Amino acid sequence: MVDPHRAGPSTLVRAGEGVFLIDCGRGVLMRAAAAGVQAANLTALLLTHLHSDHITDLADVIVTRWVTSFGPAPLRIIGPPGTASVVEATLAALGPDISYRIAHHADITEPPRVQVEEHVEGLVFNEGGVRITVAPTDHRPVEPTIAFRITHDHSSAVLAGDTVPCQTLDELASGADALVHTVIRKDLVEQMPAQRIRDILDYHSSVEQAAATAARAGVGTLVLTHYVPPLLPGQEDQWRAQASAVFDGRVELGDDLLQVSVGRGAPPA
Ligand SMILES: [Zn+2]
Ligand SMILES: [Zn+2]
Repeated sequence: MVDPHRAGPSTLVRAGEGVFLIDCGRGVLMRAAAAGVQAANLTALLLTHLHSDHITDLADVIVTRWVTSFGPAPLRIIGPPGTASVVEATLAALGPDISYRIAHHADITEPPRVQVEEHVEGLVFNEGGVRITVAPTDHRPVEPTIAFRITHDHSSAVLAGDTVPCQTLDELASGADALVHTVIRKDLVEQMPAQRIRDILDYHSSVEQAAATAARAGVGTLVLTHYVPPLLPGQEDQWRAQASAVFDGRVELGDDLLQVSVGRGAPPA
């Protein structure tokens, strides 16, 4: 269901000089602009998985970066195996647009440059004091899926993506300052009349399960996002209470444009 007030799944992480976009759901560049970030400013695009809601605006990110960058600006894309073929197909779909712009602008002489790296685990980025590590998650039958841990100056944030609880995520998130986790309200989804909606119960974490992951990993802050069903005004306390029942750290509801600071220089929680 399209929520008129909420963009698709995407999280922006600033770490040191780095600006990382994790997933690129519907409306991502509009929300990024509101956060003061343009496609040309991205250090890398990180993809947790290739479900359409997480990559709806991949073409927009690629093209907008291309036409708004002066000079070569390869877009680095780090995702699970399968990412390269999706990026290739996206570029193929953009073929007419690419040819129009090359024909029309004297200073655009080549198609968008992308640098795709596929990973399921391990250290995938280590530049400018920023380290990014990856671990597999469990969102079967969607596979492979991955989570990211971004570390800078002894502070770290983990982006879980869509997953049920799993040991590899627990290990990746261990001791992190923040865990950003997609969640569904199983108590509400279970009551929905359509089986197609109830199908999602088996491959997402509930609010309690995400909070239990946060508790096992000993993270400081849990940020809930990708709410299903949409979080209705007035329900905020219910969502927080479900998380706080099993996790005694800070809980943030990841509404669009929410900003959370962690680590050194962060205001006290
Ligand atoms: Zn998914
Ligand atoms: Zn999703």
